[in-house]
Amino acid sequence: KDTINKIAAGEIIISPINCIKELIENSIDAGATKIDLFIQNNGFKMIKIQDNGTGIEKSNFALLCKRFCTSKINTYDDLKSIATFGFRGEALSSICTISNLKMITKYKDDVIAYEVEYSSNGDVVNKKPLAANQGTTFVINDLFYNVPSRLKSLSYTKQELKKIVDCISKYAINNQGISFSLKRLEDNKMLYSCKENSTLDDRIRLLINSSISKFLINLEDVHDEDLGLIKCEGIITNLSYCNESTQFKKTSISTNKMMVFFINNRLIDCEVLRKHIIQTYNAFLPKTASSPFVYLSLFINPENVDVNVHPTKKEVYFINDEEICEIICGNIKSILQSQDV
Ligand code: ADP
Ligand code: MG
Repeated sequence: KDTINKIAAGEIIISPINCIKELIENSIDAGATKIDLFIQNNGFKMIKIQDNGTGIEKSNFALLCKRFCTSKINTYDDLKSIATFGFRGEALSSICTISNLKMITKYKDDVIAYEVEYSSNGDVVNKKPLAANQGTTFVINDLFYNVPSRLKSLSYTKQELKKIVDCISKYAINNQGISFSLKRLEDNKMLYSCKENSTLDDRIRLLINSSISKFLINLEDVHDEDLGLIKCEGIITNLSYCNESTQFKKTSISTNKMMVFFINNRLIDCEVLRKHIIQTYNAFLPKTASSPFVYLSLFINPENVDVNVHPTKKEVYFINDEEICEIICGNIKSILQSQDV
């Protein structure tokens, strides 16, 4: 059983970034307005995430790191709590299996906080009361300590760190009103910092390193219930940006930073959408132009989202994807036509 758990965990958490992504999402779901991360050895030695969310009720401690333990109810009425995809209630149990996990939490209605330590099979091995502010802190020590093959294959740590910073930057864009920070403990260096009241432009600048506010256009809400597209919001840059900017050539691979997609509040890759958008812009632009910056937040009927494609859930497929991309890009096209000709 232990081996099965370890394999399952290894499929969900394949690098520190997967772990960090899951923890950030949990903090956001808990209503946090402040999320602070600390890492040591790019997350391999330690990941610590501190939030000021609701905290966790004492009655949930025992099951928290067991598989399929989730408190999240998925309703259609509340877009915020809409079912995302797959792997519900698997993140903490997976992380716990392949690391040393400790939690400090103070539930909003409690006077006292607790520090709780878990064993690799998700049992509480230590629990003690202490003083702390409302919210939850997870401390993940020695990720992959018992998965040597994983440790070895992940020696390209510079890439890892970039991915972590990009990931946080993107969540900051999708969650205005929440402050985010990332500190490296070896040298106390602040690697990322975004205040609660930072504007969208500030948040974009932290990702792509340049201010693009004068080029930004709001996308009107696009939706089509029949296709399962409940809502699509976002921003795009106009054609002047692509013509003037020298930042990311369309041909360069760094366009990864320039397309930020969220589906049901989860950061994802979506090749179909990316292709459609690039095609839409290409129709207006010379070959030498820069890549546009595009941030889209889609809400798709969770029943239409395919959860079983890739264990890390980054590339996502959904029913009617071509049609949905066409609707969104039709909208982008008419905006570009009216703006820049
Ligand atoms: P899921 O997010 O799919 O429910 P997880 O394994 O990620 O599963 O988390 C399990 C449960 O632990 C959550 O449903 C939530 O109740 C609780 N939890 C996790 N992180 C936090 C947090 N930062 N604040 C409050 N509750 C949390
Ligand atoms: Mg979760």
